[in-house]
Amino acid sequence: MAGPAFDQREGHIWYNGDYVDWKDAKMHVLSHGLHYASSVFEGVRAYGGEIFKLEQHTNRLFASADMLGMEMPYSREELNRIQIEILEKEGLQDAYLRPIVWRGSEMMGISAQSNRINVAVAAWEWPSYFKPEDRLKGLRLATAEWRRPDPRTIPCRAKAAGLYMICTLSKHKVERQGFNDAMMLDFEGYIAEATGANIFFTKNGVLHTPTPDCFLDGITRQTTIELAKRRGIEVIERKIRPEELGDFEECFLTGTAVEVTPVSVIDNYGFTPGDITKQLMDDYTNEVTPKAIAAE
Ligand code: PMP
Repeated sequence: MAGPAFDQREGHIWYNGDYVDWKDAKMHVLSHGLHYASSVFEGVRAYGGEIFKLEQHTNRLFASADMLGMEMPYSREELNRIQIEILEKEGLQDAYLRPIVWRGSEMMGISAQSNRINVAVAAWEWPSYFKPEDRLKGLRLATAEWRRPDPRTIPCRAKAAGLYMICTLSKHKVERQGFNDAMMLDFEGYIAEATGANIFFTKNGVLHTPTPDCFLDGITRQTTIELAKRRGIEVIERKIRPEELGDFEECFLTGTAVEVTPVSVIDNYGFTPGDITKQLMDDYTNEVTPKAIAAE
């Protein structure tokens, strides 16, 4: 996104209980979160000043912290209140919010039993940039070199910093080849998700999406399934093999950032956004209007 670097912006960041000047929201270079990836976070959006699915995001943040053995020093209610408050304080309407929790620098080594659990919340303006007609052109994906790990090897349901290492590697590689994003397989070779979004396909009017058994069951994914069911569209959650890509007609990604965005290419396979994708894009847009969020 264009604009000043993320450490050079104006405004305030909520940091361990206080609002600090944006440029002063720093941590020490010997932070456990930086060295050993003991960090969990959320990506949340506000539309017209209303935060979409705030409670679900906060619950996931607490669940992620718990999976990394980090005891949250604030309550869910406090975290919710801070996120509402920061929007008002910063005068933000359409915004992205980034709550983050990490272990500090009291001990340096693998064990971090007495390290402080730090919490910060930043928020910045995030308008809906892309017109529907541009989004309908679709994203171009290529299969990632790295796979989503076996649930026995990492707490894969946490939104934890450590799980993004392979996402950045995969995305960089395909971006160099001219693609927008990477589609990741799981450790068994089934289709999993994109690097920061879940994936859906259509076949004969039915939605197919991978079972989220080793990756995030995204909040947007859950919303999209609900919206599809409301329209009477059947949704099948199952293991999907990459060899099946040629059988599908439409493909789209879901996520807080991408919302519902069509995919036009995965490797050598082409997809055309059709009625189902367009319907769910519209339904999602309606779901995130400030009025709809307030009525939730
Ligand atoms: N998978 C990954 C790896 C993600 O980073 C995200 C974005 N949080 C998602 C899926 C989609 O999750 P959500 O719809 O809750 O934003």
